[in-house]
Amino acid sequence: MKIKSAEYQVSAPDAASCPAWGVPEFAFVGRSNVGKSSLINLLTHRKDLAKVSATPGKTRLLNFFLINGEWGLVDMPGYGFAVGGKDGRIDFSQVIAHYAAERANLRCIFVLIDSRHPPQQIDLEFIRWVEGTGVPFALVFTKTDKLGPTRLKANLEDYKKTIATWRSELPDILACSAHDGTGKHEILGYISARMARPAGAPAGSGEG
Ligand code: GDP
Repeated sequence: MKIKSAEYQVSAPDAASCPAWGVPEFAFVGRSNVGKSSLINLLTHRKDLAKVSATPGKTRLLNFFLINGEWGLVDMPGYGFAVGGKDGRIDFSQVIAHYAAERANLRCIFVLIDSRHPPQQIDLEFIRWVEGTGVPFALVFTKTDKLGPTRLKANLEDYKKTIATWRSELPDILACSAHDGTGKHEILGYISARMARPAGAPAGSGEG
């Protein structure tokens, strides 16, 4: 997919304020500092598209961008501080929960995970939470330039094994580096493929 245009649309505090468009949406979410802004800028070929999401007052909102006039990129609030309250439950997400539950045009949530670390409790909890929403999702391992192929493979295997303890079918898994461009075409291709499918259709073959 070639990115011809990428325009900021709106920052929504709740599901009711989301754009009234019918375009398929793809949401990006992850822990603070996972590399979400860098990935969004890489995918959209813009230096600071995602900067708007980091401006004061917007970090806890759903930030919408219209890409090529045909699909919506949704920058979700980062988790890390607000996830996993005292009782271990994820409670950060009235905004995200409502959005995920009510948005019929949401095609996929990309859950970003820092590839440098072994499985982290907070990310595993988040994955389980996303699963519970019933929205299709894929894992995107970030910052792959930071580690060699052997470590990367080992960390991905660790995640797969951990996820396999509660789930028979693995989610689709992608990997990227905003620094060397790894994964850009795969992720855009993944989005293209999902755009072509009606919402709710089975994923078919993923990237791994
Ligand atoms: P966000 O908080 O999830 O939006 O994360 P940012 O995109 O702001 O990135 C957080 C930090 O990680 C910054 O210092 C980035 O330069 C760095 N970073 C992001 N992506 C990559 C990557 O692919 N490779 C490397 N080496 N660093 C990255």
